[in-house]
Amino acid sequence: MGRLLAVIILCLAWATLWATPARARAGAVGDPAPVCIARADPDSSPSALLVNSAHFDCSKDQRSFGPGDFDVLAPSLKPGAGQTWPAHVRFGSVWQQNATLFALYDDGKIARVPLDEHALTRSLSLGAIVDVRLPYRRIAVTRLLWRIQGSANVRGIVLGPHTATATQGWQSDLLLGALYAGFAGLCVALLVFNLALWCALRRPFQLAYCGMVLALLLYAVTSSGAVAWWWPSISNNDRIRFNYLALGLSAAAALEFARTFFEAGVFEGRTGRLARVVSIALIASAATFAVLAPWQARLLDRVYALTFVALLATVVPVLIKAWRLRSSYLWLFALAWGAPIAFSGLRVAASMGLIEWSFWIDNSTVMAMLAESMLSSVAIAYRIHLLSRERDEAREQEIAARLLADTDPLTGLLNRRAFLADAIGRAGDQKLIVVDIDHFKKVNDAIGHDGGDEVLRIVARVLRTAAAGNGVLVARLGGEEFAILSPAEQALDPRDLLDALREASMPFDLTVTASLGSCTGPMTRETDWKKLYSLADRALFAAKTAGRDRARDAGVLAAAA
Ligand code: GH3
Ligand code: MG
Ligand code: MG
Repeated sequence: MGRLLAVIILCLAWATLWATPARARAGAVGDPAPVCIARADPDSSPSALLVNSAHFDCSKDQRSFGPGDFDVLAPSLKPGAGQTWPAHVRFGSVWQQNATLFALYDDGKIARVPLDEHALTRSLSLGAIVDVRLPYRRIAVTRLLWRIQGSANVRGIVLGPHTATATQGWQSDLLLGALYAGFAGLCVALLVFNLALWCALRRPFQLAYCGMVLALLLYAVTSSGAVAWWWPSISNNDRIRFNYLALGLSAAAALEFARTFFEAGVFEGRTGRLARVVSIALIASAATFAVLAPWQARLLDRVYALTFVALLATVVPVLIKAWRLRSSYLWLFALAWGAPIAFSGLRVAASMGLIEWSFWIDNSTVMAMLAESMLSSVAIAYRIHLLSRERDEAREQEIAARLLADTDPLTGLLNRRAFLADAIGRAGDQKLIVVDIDHFKKVNDAIGHDGGDEVLRIVARVLRTAAAGNGVLVARLGGEEFAILSPAEQALDPRDLLDALREASMPFDLTVTASLGSCTGPMTRETDWKKLYSLADRALFAAKTAGRDRARDAGVLAAAA
């Protein structure tokens, strides 16, 4: 059942992960506007730069320019952009102090759009894409120029610029809105559900899991740019600081979740120390970037990326150790971590400059972590399933042990101890009948000890059947002596018992009879039992001496005042 659930959730997670972002064009919608870069030239006017593009470099990777001030030119836009529809310029938001966007129209006029940190926040559309609507003049826009001050140039200077229509922007927002809303809704559901479970179970891994989901929610809110809806005055650079912090925290929480979730032993010794160091490094490097940026932003980002490499490197020995210790959760963790591992690998490669920046590399982290949280939640459900199974087994074993301790192994009747435990303390008068098989020694002599045992079993069955009823106790007191206790008002007739015994078919058609002694009285204390038993035993002795195969009654004992 647990496995089936895991497979279903896995399929859903991968469908979300692959089908939606890969097929739908969101974020980077519209027509690409390739850019050329030049170090800022404060002496040149925007109009000169927009016309004379000779000193711009169109081939070098943006990151190779390092941090600083830049002029970024998009010399060839899609022909007719902004002529019959208002043109939107969309590009990925990155760390920069200040920017101004200039648009050159076909008639030589230039529009100027100031984009300081706060204007950037106001222009953010979902996916942390800056979306600037150019003034609409029914004249085509031919070139764009960004004059950028204080670019940290961690991922680039102007990321993935496009020109797009308003409709394309809305479609992208709608799709990403659905995706992020689904993500946030799921996070909230997982959070509430696991907090409620924590109230009942109080396992440390549940809190680590909730911490992870919470940090992930913060990450989604900051990386999507949705934070600007609730906090419009936040500067774009501060949003980026929170984004670093949230991802670092969620990765550290994921590691803490694994540490507290796996069986003791997996995180013992070197793997435990490694996990602790990596957790601290993740939080410390994220916090350092968040506090110090833009100072040494690139170096700090590299260090931050390296802590994720360390995280990936920690997963390997953890999984190996879990495999060696035959952990029940290995397969679930391997699945859950698959997506984030693949995507943090891509992220690390992108931030090291090994592969191109892509809108989806930044945003797929959310989806990958979503898959991780869903599968981790399955792991929690599986863990609870194992816990309840262990508890049920323990309970069954306890019941079986108690049954074994209370029963006479030969006849299956109550033993003396269990009989007394049930009998003493009963309210109201009770009738005690003591049954002793006649000349049982001779039975043993005639048919052997095993045959004697069989006779004991048959006598026990006959007594149990004849004395069946509510509140009636039948026990083997020892040897070939039995006791029957019943409330006085529904007392058994000893003659019926004698008849039933006489009619029972015995091995080798042996005739087996018994003598009975009975007495009625209170049974509230142990002294009552002793008195009742001794009188019943005396009646039994009377039956024996009177010739056996008969019953004698000692009458009714008055309750002690
Ligand atoms: P009486 O009619 O006076 O009760 O005679 P008796 O032979 O039944 O009484 P006695 O107490 O002298 O002997 C009881 C015998 O029951 C002795 C013992 O070997 C036998 N016995 C006790 N427990 C078991 C048992 O578990 N299995 C078998 N086969 N015999 C048992
Ligand atoms: Mg006896
Ligand atoms: Mg006997």
